[in-house]
Amino acid sequence: MLQDNHGRQFYYLRLSITEACNFRCQYCLPDGYQGPSADSFLSKSEIQTVLSAFAGLGTSKVRITGGEPSLRRDFTDIISVTANTPGIKRVAMTTHGGRLAQKAREWKAAGLDQVNVSIDSLDPRQFAAITGQDKLKEVLAGIDNAAEAGLDVKVNTVMLSQFDEKRLTRFLGWIKDKPVTLRFIELMQTGEHEGFFNHQHQSGQPVKEWLLSQGWAPLIRRKDAGPAQEFYHPDYQGKIGLILPYSKDFCQSCNRLRVAANGNLHLCLFSEQGLTLQPYLRENDIQGLQQYLQKVLVSKEATHHLHEGQTGATKHLAMLGG
Ligand code: SAM
Repeated sequence: MLQDNHGRQFYYLRLSITEACNFRCQYCLPDGYQGPSADSFLSKSEIQTVLSAFAGLGTSKVRITGGEPSLRRDFTDIISVTANTPGIKRVAMTTHGGRLAQKAREWKAAGLDQVNVSIDSLDPRQFAAITGQDKLKEVLAGIDNAAEAGLDVKVNTVMLSQFDEKRLTRFLGWIKDKPVTLRFIELMQTGEHEGFFNHQHQSGQPVKEWLLSQGWAPLIRRKDAGPAQEFYHPDYQGKIGLILPYSKDFCQSCNRLRVAANGNLHLCLFSEQGLTLQPYLRENDIQGLQQYLQKVLVSKEATHHLHEGQTGATKHLAMLGG
């Protein structure tokens, strides 16, 4: 098992397979993707090496992310490789959802269990203003297809300053009869967007208090649950999750490690430049990689330093996938 010096165990890997994305979310890639080309990212065989090493050390859940993972031509194969790695029991992805309507069945058949789709507004004009893509209708159709295909569906919503009671009520109305978990995420500061963050960040705490006042109740958390707080309401089929990275003790339940599309290991979303795994990946040296992972994990810090405005090397989350 991968364990750090603070008693946290890491059975969950977030694997980014590309930094590229064709959406232009205001808080992520507002000017569009301008980074390295596709050949700089992990190949399928390097991905297999990463997966085998982590799975051999107890990783049972993998989230494939990016950039936009579905932009890779070999994406369906990558799902299959992940699902077929001994020890991996759950395969999830995070996506903008633009390709979900056509691909949900294919991805499910390849071994995908769960999809997290990013939707920051249910108002088509606001959605287009935030993402730079007028595609809310397609994304919503994708969610319906994904649920029909048997995928577990979660929706990620970043809370921006205009996230008021009206928007919240609209989201809640949408999950009344939909078995979808909505995850409201507090905007995190990243290196490139300090000004945007200062304008747009709002604490999720008032949202939590409002939900409790409306009869939403906290779900009992499993011991190995990650940092999201979850809520249910007897009148709603959907559930709510809150991700409040600025809340006290957020990092105590950290259960994940990250590998970026360039093959760097990140012990925290907001830490160092990344520790290169390339020498092991080039040689398909699974054992060497496992020893390296165990060695460096002891230097994982107890908490991020976002409260002090320290965003580490993370310029934007497309670099790492969130
Ligand atoms: N392209 C995919 C997508 O759109 O979901 C995956 C990559 S995206 C970077 C992963 C998640 O990070 C999305 O749900 C996005 O909303 C969230 N995200 C990006 N920047 C963020 C920030 N500064 N604070 C909080 N969440 C952020």
